[in-house]
Amino acid sequence: MTTLAPEAAREPKDTPAIRMVDVNKWYGEFQVLRDINLDVARGERIVICGPSGSGKSTLIRCINRLEEYQKGRIIVDDVELTNNSKRIEEIRREVGMVFQHFNLFPHLTILENCTLAPIWVRKLPKKEAEAIAMRYLERVKIPEQANKYPGQLSGGQQQRVAIARSLCMNPKIMLFDEPTSALDPEMVKEVLDTMVTLAEEGMTMLVVTHEMGFARQVADRVIFMDQGQIVEMNTPDEFFSNARNERTKIFLGQIL
Ligand code: ADP
Ligand code: MG
Repeated sequence: MTTLAPEAAREPKDTPAIRMVDVNKWYGEFQVLRDINLDVARGERIVICGPSGSGKSTLIRCINRLEEYQKGRIIVDDVELTNNSKRIEEIRREVGMVFQHFNLFPHLTILENCTLAPIWVRKLPKKEAEAIAMRYLERVKIPEQANKYPGQLSGGQQQRVAIARSLCMNPKIMLFDEPTSALDPEMVKEVLDTMVTLAEEGMTMLVVTHEMGFARQVADRVIFMDQGQIVEMNTPDEFFSNARNERTKIFLGQIL
């Protein structure tokens, strides 16, 4: 049986999947990331939370180089991110990303959304790409939607397609940026369930979310960001019961 997490995600290696060393980033005069140091082990699940504007999206967008940073180093699967565009392509193939607003191509069917990158980037034959796409659509429980267009699906279904589409590229790492925050409440669970399955199968995941139930269930570590800094990083148990930082306590008081 096909599992949700592709084979590559479960290769044993002892170097970190992601290493960020003293990463600093500015938008003009405004410093958005300050001295970010973070090692993510292979197979580790990390949840990032924090107030709006604290730099969560910017941090994870730096990992697949959707954003540049001005100081520090980021090493992804033993490849140092530099301005070398070939290397950036290499990393983007290994790092899947799921956004708040799905970002599916509206004029392509669900199946075409899932096969586009495997055909054009991975150079897979169309039939093979379609077979892989159908396997993942089955795994996210919507194979019957394959020939529809994104606009015909609910938000929760579209987000599951976005996850399946990423998995079709056989990523080693998955980044999620508030994947459930644009969904109606009744659709949140179906998307979180898909993510829980992926986590249980060993995918390395960095998830920006305020779904604290998800954090408790699957996170190895929870990170709290404020004003561009990681101000707290701990196991979920410690994080929720024994937050040390004042700003973390205030934040948890507001959302729990
Ligand atoms: P979060 O995801 O935690 O809400 P972001 O990483 O999106 O935070 O943004 C962090 C800060 O950087 C915010 O103050 C935001 O206004 C600012 N910012 C984000 N993108 C840009 C940009 N392209 N240019 C200038 N400022 C930006
Ligand atoms: Mg954000």
